[in-house]
Amino acid sequence: MNQKKERGQLIVLSGPSGVGKSTVIAELFSQRSNIYFSVSYTTRQPRVGEQDGVNYNFVSREEFERMIADDELLEYAEYVDNYYGTSIKLIREKLDAGIDVLLDIEVQGAAKVRARCPDALFIFIIPPSFEELSRRLHRRNTDSEDVIAGRLAKARQEFREIPKYDYLVINDKVANAVHEIEAILTAAECRVDCRSRMLAQFA
Ligand code: 5GP
Repeated sequence: MNQKKERGQLIVLSGPSGVGKSTVIAELFSQRSNIYFSVSYTTRQPRVGEQDGVNYNFVSREEFERMIADDELLEYAEYVDNYYGTSIKLIREKLDAGIDVLLDIEVQGAAKVRARCPDALFIFIIPPSFEELSRRLHRRNTDSEDVIAGRLAKARQEFREIPKYDYLVINDKVANAVHEIEAILTAAECRVDCRSRMLAQFA
């Protein structure tokens, strides 16, 4: 259901680099309206095909550190030698306007969001196996062997954080992962506390 909501739902999606999150997110957004993708800020270099302001806002380390100092970030983390962070301003505006907001962030950032926004939905997405994750990272062909090794080691650490999440989605096939996320979002929309204004007429 895509009708306007009383308040937008903050959705945190985490999963190791290479799991296919971007593809899943693109497919989810093609099927769903009233949802906004929070474009993160990062100090890493753009990959081939990535666009500034679309995939990320690519900024210098100095600019990122200024944003931290000025308290402009809902959360941020250092991940494989680069900063990644979520600007707070636009997210607030969207949620207040009844629009869902999806954050694609790693586990340290997600833990910070959990502390600040306990009502957010926390979803972790995994590949069908560790071997498949390695295959996908190699197939992507954008990072050096060293970077891939770093990302795989990081993935092992991240999997230990899964118990802190509410939902686990398996990306064996994109369509299945999207279907599971849709089901989670629909269930959240049906929560009594999300429909209090609608419920008032039956009082
Ligand atoms: P990549 O370099 O592969 O695009 O992203 C590396 C990791 O950083 C991914 O796990 C991604 O979810 C995470 N990430 C992207 N944006 C943010 C952000 O704003 N904050 C945090 N904490 N992590 C982010």
